[in-house]
Amino acid sequence: MDIIDVHTHHLRTNISQFIYSCMPTDFSPQKGGYYSVGIHPWKITSDVIAGYEQLEKIARHPQVLAIGETGLDKMIRTELSLQQKVFEFHINLAEILHKPLIIHSVKTSNEIIQLKKKFQSRYPWILHGFRGKKELAEQLTAQNIYLSFGEKYQEAALNSIPLNRLLLETDESDKEIFQIYEAVAQSRSVPIKELIAQVQQNIAQLFFNQ
Ligand SMILES: [Zn+2]
Repeated sequence: MDIIDVHTHHLRTNISQFIYSCMPTDFSPQKGGYYSVGIHPWKITSDVIAGYEQLEKIARHPQVLAIGETGLDKMIRTELSLQQKVFEFHINLAEILHKPLIIHSVKTSNEIIQLKKKFQSRYPWILHGFRGKKELAEQLTAQNIYLSFGEKYQEAALNSIPLNRLLLETDESDKEIFQIYEAVAQSRSVPIKELIAQVQQNIAQLFFNQ
């Protein structure tokens, strides 16, 4: 297992080092690659339900390690109630397939926490691209939610969470994942090798039950 980047939208070289996040319609697995598949809140249309069947089918693919990204976003026009219905479909799918959930959240951390309590999910939730404050990071990790940090984040939040709940990602950034590791290692005052080993251990547990 050499995954070190849990969430990217760029197909990079070193195919086995990242989880490529895409919509079901864009899924075309390459040998040795890893994927997460879901209907992004930004891509929700009025006939979203029509895409559920395809999502369900693709989500079962062995190279699909996680469901998402999915989630809630208060900065877009799509009604929050519709976003929540679509998100709940993904939550249930993750439970049925025993796969972790990769979550997009913009100004909706409280809603995510409420849903986590309501669904009592047995499979891990990962909030990706976390940029919130320390207090929020603590509330989320207290609910056993993993936080994935990318190019931009609040240092106090990064430094406050347990290392066994930490993941790293490039998302839409053009930065290399190693640049993110370097910045985070410095901020957490841990040697980069140790940080990589810790995050890989988290990834092995999360996606490979190891
Ligand atoms: Zn993303």
